[in-house]
Amino acid sequence: MRGSLSVTVDIEDWYHIPSVCSSPYSVYRSVNEFFQKWEGRYDFLTEPTKKVLDILDEFKVTATFFVVADTVKHYPGLVESIVERGHELACHGLHHACKIDPNTKERLMSAEEFEQRTLLAKRILEKTSGERVIGYRAPSAFVGGWMLDSLESIGFKYDSSVSVNSLYNKTDSSLKTVSSFPYHPLKSGLEAGDDRSFVEFPWAYYQNVLRIPASGGPILRFLGAPLVLNGLIQSLKRGHTIFYFHPLDISCTKFPSIGNNRPFYWCIKGNLVEGRIRYILKNLNNVEKMCLRDYPEML
Ligand SMILES: [Zn+2]
Repeated sequence: MRGSLSVTVDIEDWYHIPSVCSSPYSVYRSVNEFFQKWEGRYDFLTEPTKKVLDILDEFKVTATFFVVADTVKHYPGLVESIVERGHELACHGLHHACKIDPNTKERLMSAEEFEQRTLLAKRILEKTSGERVIGYRAPSAFVGGWMLDSLESIGFKYDSSVSVNSLYNKTDSSLKTVSSFPYHPLKSGLEAGDDRSFVEFPWAYYQNVLRIPASGGPILRFLGAPLVLNGLIQSLKRGHTIFYFHPLDISCTKFPSIGNNRPFYWCIKGNLVEGRIRYILKNLNNVEKMCLRDYPEML
């Protein structure tokens, strides 16, 4: 295998997902509205994040954590606990809101509004951690080329949202020139080819008749570890690649059943999925790993 691997973790809670908050089909228009109206327990994130930190220590992995910035307000100490263990802090939006329409891929906000919100998120994360934040991942991976221009203009050096596969395309581009290794995107687009310094780190995929994302989240929960591991091994032969998962994937607690248009979304998670993450990390124990800020072109 010639590439190195970046293990990345997305820090968000159950109400950040698009069926509950901040998308055209969510129950609550925004996370702020959720906190105004919700009276039950909301924190299902702290406990599995602790577990993830222990697993990463066990496998001696320094990871990149893409964190939704409003967790700083609602989960005091959580971001600090990540940074204290030496991991990289990166930005996963202010409230995990969708920036483009999941169906039409049209913008849901202007570039100016996106820049304002994302800069605020960056500043919150930098103030809390005392470290510079240079990486971004689009909430739910809905990303448009215009967003990368904005990210570059407000001081980000890389994005890691693009997934090339046969199941879905959550972007506004065809992605014909994109594989599973890092590239410099064209201005105002997501295709490869420009010589600008901004870098996109696309996700791993398994190539058979179809291309399947080799990632955590629903793929790992529904399709299992061997497919994801094989996709990572294939992608590492192409170059550097990404593995991502969420602490929510390994939570053993039942989440509130709201946002019910996806009743099976969380039916597989917990210890079973934790075992799958361990299986993948164990099998990739000898692969060189680095967090994204340490990728040579970031230095
Ligand atoms: Zn997310």
